[in-house]
Amino acid sequence: MQRQTNQRDAIRRVFEASARPLSPQEILREARREVPGLGIATVYRAVKTLTTSGFLSPVELPGAPARYERAGKQHHHHFHCRSCDRVYDVDACPGAIGKLSPEGFELESHEIVLYGRCDRCAG
Ligand SMILES: [Zn+2]
Ligand SMILES: [Zn+2]
Repeated sequence: MQRQTNQRDAIRRVFEASARPLSPQEILREARREVPGLGIATVYRAVKTLTTSGFLSPVELPGAPARYERAGKQHHHHFHCRSCDRVYDVDACPGAIGKLSPEGFELESHEIVLYGRCDRCAG
């Protein structure tokens, strides 16, 4: 139990230090700096627990495995780099997107994903 808590704390710290959503593999890579013996199954379990407890939210991107980010962030979007597969936050929204809905439709939510190459990959 103590060990589980330490592993979960390490994963929590990874998210506190990260400015972008992370895949389970990325979480594993980062958390292993602190917990060298950490395994991917433990990461999946911890992510599930941290999601249920409201610390993390899944970031679902079309055709891509889920990433995770801190829950409770304000409305934002994501940029998916096709070159390195990293996902970044886009802290902007076009706003008046409801105008795109057909006449008489009531918009409830929207998803926007930007694709391309990140600054590391483009540079
Ligand atoms: Zn990239
Ligand atoms: Zn938006």
